[in-house]
Amino acid sequence: MPYLRLALDVPLARLFDYELADADASAVGKRAVVSFGRRALVGMVIEVADSPADAGVAIKPVEALLDDLPTLPADILDLLQFCADYYQHPLGQVVHTALPGRFREIAPYRVAPACAYQAVDADALLGSLPKRASLQRRLAVMLAEPCSEAQLRAESGSAWRLVQAWLAQGQLRQVALSLALPQPVAGPALNPGQAAAVAAITQSAGFACHLLCGITGSGKTEVYLHAIAEVLQRGLQALVLVPEINLTPQLEGRFRQRFPGVEIVSLHSGVADGERATGWVRAARGEAAIVLGTRLAVFTPLPRLGLVVVDEEHDASFKQQEGLRYSARDVAVYRARQAQVAIVLGSATPALESWYNAEAGRYKRLALPQRAVAGAQPPSWQLVPTRRQHLADGLHAHTLGAIENRLARGEQSLIFLNRRGYAPVMHCSECGWLAACTRCSARLTVHMRERRLRCHHCGWEERFPPACPGCGNSDMKPLGQGTQRLEELLAQRFPQARVLRIDRDSMRRKGSFEAALKTIHAGEVDILIGTQMLAKGHDFPALTLVAVIGADSGLYSADFRASERLYAQLAQVAGRAGRANKPGEVLIQTDFPEHPLYQALLADNYADFAATELAERKLAGFPPYLYQAVLRAEADTLAEAMQFLQGAVALAPLDEAVTVWDPVAASMMRLANRERAQVLVQSGSRARLGAFLAGWMQALRAERAAKVRWSLDVDPLEL
Ligand code: ADP
Ligand code: ZN
Ligand code: ZN
Repeated sequence: MPYLRLALDVPLARLFDYELADADASAVGKRAVVSFGRRALVGMVIEVADSPADAGVAIKPVEALLDDLPTLPADILDLLQFCADYYQHPLGQVVHTALPGRFREIAPYRVAPACAYQAVDADALLGSLPKRASLQRRLAVMLAEPCSEAQLRAESGSAWRLVQAWLAQGQLRQVALSLALPQPVAGPALNPGQAAAVAAITQSAGFACHLLCGITGSGKTEVYLHAIAEVLQRGLQALVLVPEINLTPQLEGRFRQRFPGVEIVSLHSGVADGERATGWVRAARGEAAIVLGTRLAVFTPLPRLGLVVVDEEHDASFKQQEGLRYSARDVAVYRARQAQVAIVLGSATPALESWYNAEAGRYKRLALPQRAVAGAQPPSWQLVPTRRQHLADGLHAHTLGAIENRLARGEQSLIFLNRRGYAPVMHCSECGWLAACTRCSARLTVHMRERRLRCHHCGWEERFPPACPGCGNSDMKPLGQGTQRLEELLAQRFPQARVLRIDRDSMRRKGSFEAALKTIHAGEVDILIGTQMLAKGHDFPALTLVAVIGADSGLYSADFRASERLYAQLAQVAGRAGRANKPGEVLIQTDFPEHPLYQALLADNYADFAATELAERKLAGFPPYLYQAVLRAEADTLAEAMQFLQGAVALAPLDEAVTVWDPVAASMMRLANRERAQVLVQSGSRARLGAFLAGWMQALRAERAAKVRWSLDVDPLEL
């Protein structure tokens, strides 16, 4: 009797055997319904074996083998196994992280083959339409030839509804989707830097990793589009990863415009379950030519993968921070190597890991040195020294003057402050009491309008205390600057200006962010106040001033990655200024104008910054010169977490190439009433660290840890 070895979504690092009469190797990569304990589960068949792994254990039969989906191909199974091994995560959970949630339901999921639509009689259809119904007439003309769903949807938001109606009336028929590709719409002629980059990418044979470096507006997206056009012409598929779902609609629009008629699947957490599952199936069947998505899209089966693109590759959101703690960028590189195709990592400020790989010759660096649009100037930078200066509530007179200037010229300003709320803390000047979260090791943020104190870490909130709990003083003051306070201040200063604050508080309602972007584009805003929500990717033609406040806190942080993040963030927010023909100006208020980070930014010299940072990391023994993993534990008390970790350290295999540090309290020790500690492990050898972790996790999983929740993070971004 053959046995199916299944990956199940349970937290056990093993596979489970079930028997199925006359099963053969073709069952691998299919879903199977089985009973597990008292539940019915859907598992993925990983292997078919002649004998069970555990002799002497009662083995249950498979209840049903589902044959509805495209079989998970060998390369994806290999990729998932790689993730399970590399990130030390149970394969069953890796599989279920990688697949659309819909596939966990015990029901077949069928997707009709993508088809095209054509008018039964195009002239008759056109003749039946009113003269002024221009959209309808345009569609009728298009439909003389077969059109794909994607092509029709790209035409207009309401096109699809019309097509459905005509189909119901018998005006249209469905025809097989032709694989012949429609011509892409021509883009702008490439400049020499872009042309060289496209040539390098499309002419590389087999696996090659290209690091495409260029500031915002230097034309990276154009390079992707040209390289993808070439790949599509060869009948291959492209996988494009972007960091944020906020950015996908904009990019998707640009892709659809360029590739009309090409099936483009968009995969991110904002896509409804069913649509995501359908997109996955279309990609796996080879019907979709382009998959565009956030990190979870990296696992999509693509039988004819020809190119991988990771845009803003340095962005931390490519790393999942829970469950399977994978880096989608790193997994994408693995995938490109596996498929022996080119991958492009694009960024203005590459991750130092990627930069280091380029320095070492493993990645090829491609540079786009200027802004692509003729006449567009890079912004000019200026540091505004604030040490021993009088500041009107945090804003320097020079900054205020620059804003006033923009108001007079009818241009927009963005004040960037990455701290939402009114003030970061409530303070009693009599006794020094500070409002702190009782559940976290953190201060409570002041939200003035609601008169509440909120914890930005655990969500706790309370009303303003009527008097200081320490001394009874009733005159307590919010201390420091947040976006709400800045909004209040600017509205007072410039009563004639239209001020708009964009942060997670003001943009809580669904759709409010999109609405805000519209008002900015329509020129209905004069002064924008924004957190990192606004830093990325959005193009505001009338914005000519960016003023940065409070950046210094990133300069001298205990986190060795803080300065890398700060540089990237400032370069990104500066990219918002002056995209059209108006030159932009970036002001950074700082107490440390001589700091090398700011000096490198001013000179637009990322190479210099990267060299300095890498030298420091080498000296201090940090990644990318070492590989790290961190074992985290949380419990009701720190003592329990520490005790667990001490036990874990005692179980660690001995390997002189691997350093195991002592357990320490986490930098944010208390979070939501749980106390947290961690053990850092590092090695100069990735292979040795991997082998060590495998042995360690096996030993650790055999232990009982009732009061403690623990997890392992390989290549952690935060310690
Ligand atoms: P990035 O992705 O680096 O921010 P984009 O590719 O979006 O840059 O290009 C920025 C702007 O310049 C876009 O409006 C784009 O259409 C335009 N652009 C890009 N390349 C060219 C070119 N070779 N000629 C003219 N315009 C270009
Ligand atoms: Zn007090
Ligand atoms: Zn809290």
